[in-house]
Order: sequence, then C-alpha cells, then structure tokens
Amino acid sequence: SRREGFSAIPNVKWEDVGGLSLLRTEFDRYIVKRIKHPEYYEEFGVDSETGFLLYGPPGCGKTLIAKAVANEAGANFIHIKGPELLNKYVGESELAVRTIFSRARTCAPCILFFDEVDALTTKRGKDGGWVVERLLNQLLIELDGADQRRGVFVIGATNRPEVMDRAVLRPGRFGKLLYVPLPTANERVLILKALARKKPLAGDVNLQVIGESDACQNLSGADLAAVMNEAAMAAVEEKEMTIGEGNPSTGQCLIKTSHFEQALQKVSPSVSEQQKNYY
Ligand code: ATP
Repeated sequence: SRREGFSAIPNVKWEDVGGLSLLRTEFDRYIVKRIKHPEYYEEFGVDSETGFLLYGPPGCGKTLIAKAVANEAGANFIHIKGPELLNKYVGESELAVRTIFSRARTCAPCILFFDEVDALTTKRGKDGGWVVERLLNQLLIELDGADQRRGVFVIGATNRPEVMDRAVLRPGRFGKLLYVPLPTANERVLILKALARKKPLAGDVNLQVIGESDACQNLSGADLAAVMNEAAMAAVEEKEMTIGEGNPSTGQCLIKTSHFEQALQKVSPSVSEQQKNYY
C-alpha cells in the first residue's frame, strides 16, 4: 500500500466510473480543460482555481471520480484523509497543512483530494476544539492563496456536509458543491458495466436486467462492486470444484448469470433508507 500523501497519476479512467455524467461535465470544464489549455483561460481572464466539495452517501464514487479527473488531466493526485491528518500530527497539524500544499505546488498540475474533509472543518467551537480551529484557520489561509495555488485543484469529499463550517464553503475554497447520489436503476446498469470492463462474463449475462432488478434496489456503487466480486468468486469456486472432480479445466472460466444470483443473495444495501433521504 502507498504512503499517505504520495503523489502519482492515478490509473482510474472515465470508463471505470459508471454514471455521474453531470459531474464529469463539470470537472471537465473546471479542471481538465484548464490543465490542458491554461493559456485560453489566462487570455480570457477566467478566475483562477475553484475548490469543489463532493457530498453524499458513502460508496457512490466520490474518490473514484476525483481520481479519474486527475487521470484524464494527466495530473498528480494527492489523497489526504481528514481524520488521519488530525490524529497523526497533533500539535503540528498547521505545519502538516502547509507541507501538503507546498508538496502539491511542487508536483502541479495536481489534484489535492481531502477525504472526510468534515473532520477538518467542523464548525468552530464544536467537538474538536482548538486543534481543529487552528488547523482550519491554516487550511483557509492556504485555500485563499489562490495565486500560489496555480495548478493545484482542491476537491473535498464528505458524507456530512451539514457539520462543516460555512466559512470553508465560500467561493474559492470548497465553493462548488456537487451531490453524488445513490445510483438510480439505470445508473446501476452503467456502474455494473464499468465494473465488468475487465471481467470475463458469459454471453448470457444481461447486466441491464440485473442492474434494474429489485435485488439491486438501493445498492451503492461500492455494494455493486461487492456483487461483482462475489460473482467472480462464485465462478472461481465452480471452476475449482470441476477440477476437484477430476475434470481438467478447459481453460475458460466465465462469470454466469447464476453466479450473479448467488452474489445478490450475499450483498445488501450499505446505505440505509434514512441515510438515503438525508441529503
Ligand atoms: P466514501 O464516502 O465511503 O469515501 P466514496 O463515495 O468515495 O465513498 P468510492 O471510494 O469512490 O466511494 O467507491 C468505492 C468503490 O465502489 C470504488 O472503488 C468502486 O469499485 C465502486 N464504485 C463506487 N461508485 C462507483 C461508480 N459510480 N462507478 C463504478 N464503481 C463505483
């Protein structure tokens, strides 16, 4: 596993992301094109970098799409986990924030992704106390230094936008709010298709029918990834059994409809009905 804060161009492509096409358009306009053609934006005096906040239930593709944006733009990606930043550098969190932004500038163009950003930006005076307050102030200083932020694009992600300090949601900070919802039936089909890109599916598997079925209702992208994985495991196990019975494998091992049926028995929605209607 990689060190936290390590920067590299991620290997997630647009095709790996199912649905979320509106977000893709937004990111294409605000980040990808800017990184590819900075000169156009300078010529027309378009304001410098805006920050984004992705919010919504867990497991619906916030991290995935942020990585795909970096890949598409050919930019580096730095993944910061809010709670880790807070806990690991107690007493030094301001310095840690400064270091992160400075590293991001060094490897620009760069997407700086703050996962669980709510941990860093809880309303001042609440839970976290002075540690969060000082860290938050430093974060605001960095976010406001737009000139210095050239080529550094900040994306935050949260399941709890309501606990965040209003001050960080202003333009230029995490100013553009983008909702990442639980997928609709049709979006589930798109997600399954994206997840199946590198999987050996039998010809009879109909992802359209599976994705739209009741068994998939309320499943998140992460749940669908679990379904795909369980189905692949069922296929492997079937192959092992065939070999065990003394029938040497003919080489082909495909994921069939029956494997998806087994998988769907095992996976249930991780996002509750209550959570779902929360945003
Ligand atoms: P959290 O709020 O828990 O951090 P998240 O919204 O960032 O969740 P991701 O980490 O992007 O969720 O998704 C987890 C995994 O679920 C992905 O690695 C991918 O396998 C699958 N997944 C989620 N959403 C999608 C999607 N829209 N298309 C394809 N796969 C998805």
